[in-house]
Amino acid sequence: MDKKVRVRFAPSPTGGLHLGGVRTALFNYLFAKKNNGTFVLRVEDTDQNRFVEGAEQYIVDCLNWCGITPDESPSNPGAYGPYRQSERKPSYGKFAEQLINDGYAYYAFDTPEELDAKRKEIPNFQYGQATRMGMRNSLTLTLSEVEELLAAKTPHVVRLKVPEEEIVHFYDLIRGDVSFETSIVDDKVLLKADGMPTYHLAVVVDDKAMEISHAFRGEEWLPSAPIHILLWKYLGWEADMPAWAHLPLILKPDGHGKLSKRDGDRLGFPVYAMNWTDPKTGDVTKGFKEMGFMPEAFVNMLALLGWNNGTDQELFSLMELEEKFSIERISKAGAKFDFEKAKWYNHEWIKSQSAERLAPSVKMVLQKAGIEVQNENFLNIVINMIKDRCTLLPDFVAQSGYFFTSPAEYDVNSVKPKWTLEKAEFFNAFAEKLTLTDAASEEVAFKALAEEKGFKPGELMLPFRIMLVGGKFGPGVFDIAVLLGVEETKARIAKAVNVFNS
Ligand code: GLU
Repeated sequence: MDKKVRVRFAPSPTGGLHLGGVRTALFNYLFAKKNNGTFVLRVEDTDQNRFVEGAEQYIVDCLNWCGITPDESPSNPGAYGPYRQSERKPSYGKFAEQLINDGYAYYAFDTPEELDAKRKEIPNFQYGQATRMGMRNSLTLTLSEVEELLAAKTPHVVRLKVPEEEIVHFYDLIRGDVSFETSIVDDKVLLKADGMPTYHLAVVVDDKAMEISHAFRGEEWLPSAPIHILLWKYLGWEADMPAWAHLPLILKPDGHGKLSKRDGDRLGFPVYAMNWTDPKTGDVTKGFKEMGFMPEAFVNMLALLGWNNGTDQELFSLMELEEKFSIERISKAGAKFDFEKAKWYNHEWIKSQSAERLAPSVKMVLQKAGIEVQNENFLNIVINMIKDRCTLLPDFVAQSGYFFTSPAEYDVNSVKPKWTLEKAEFFNAFAEKLTLTDAASEEVAFKALAEEKGFKPGELMLPFRIMLVGGKFGPGVFDIAVLLGVEETKARIAKAVNVFNS
């Protein structure tokens, strides 16, 4: 590749960050890493009506959480700043003018009322080749009328003059040759009445100014591509146009249509990377992070939505992805989102991580549940014992709470029907003899005593587990006892025997 690789993630800060957005950021990031390139975050905030307080910081936080930090961004500018389009406002007007002078764009003075009237008059009205000559614009007014209107500062926009009966071709790295007939493209507004560019003008001007080499973005932007291609051409920049790559859609679990936030609400899974609080209503939308996903698992899952390395391998670390990522293996077809599969990734990641790596997150979920960890070493042992049983991070609370506090409740229904005074005596005797030097010899002692007292060891194991844990779950019961220690195990036996006797 002769051109230096520079890619950009260009979100509009309008609210929560959809997982499709994170995947776009991720593929940009991976492509940059793989090619020694630069990953740019450009904030596309030219639509002041859609601006949402806090949304930019939130996007940055999401990227940081995922470990895909941009090389250049508003807070870490490189040589191509500013990185917020609103701060680049003065740079767009001259290109709109250039397009007008070259006959590729025109002023449009139609008022909102006039446009409304047209919409009522013409079904499915589009401002374009079929209608533009019936509107109030610099194509239909005389030069002096236009000059007068401009001099009087009459509100106006600048529109692209889409050519008639042309076919716009371009090559997409994922889709191959793509073409659009210009008859279906309307005369998009390029510059708004407030002097701000629209997305279409800004994206082209900025991709050029920032020397973007490859533009990865979601398939939902494909219909905009012909407008951008025309602009690259009309501005005389065709040679610098980035290579295009429109990423496959992320689909609803049933494969019918694009996954939306509403599908998440309806089906009970997150769609945003992190919790998003709407600053106006205070409503919180749950994110993968807060639901208990590890960033490594989230990123791994996202990478495999539309990409694979040609083998059955499904588990990849970010570093491995940086090495193995290739555009050739991105599929054209939409990728169905499957929350069960997402949880599977998380489970696999939790299992594969060291206790030390998991400890800070586990501590946090325990703390939220009111459990303060005093001893790091103890926590690490606990984590290693139970991590295989945890799918989401909060599962650590239910799976490990009993290591920190004696059960407050017991699954008495599983014990009481078969509980006898003889069993109570057995446990009292067993408690007296406890040594707990190691799990295996304690189990031998337990079984020997059971047989001596005429029990099948099997019928005593479940009560013992419920005494220590509260329920029918957890790792080996003798392992639990060893970790709890003689004093604690004795105390739990005594307390539970009382409950079962009563
Ligand atoms: N601002 C667009 C968005 O919100 C960016 C699309 C593009 O990458 O061209 O996703």
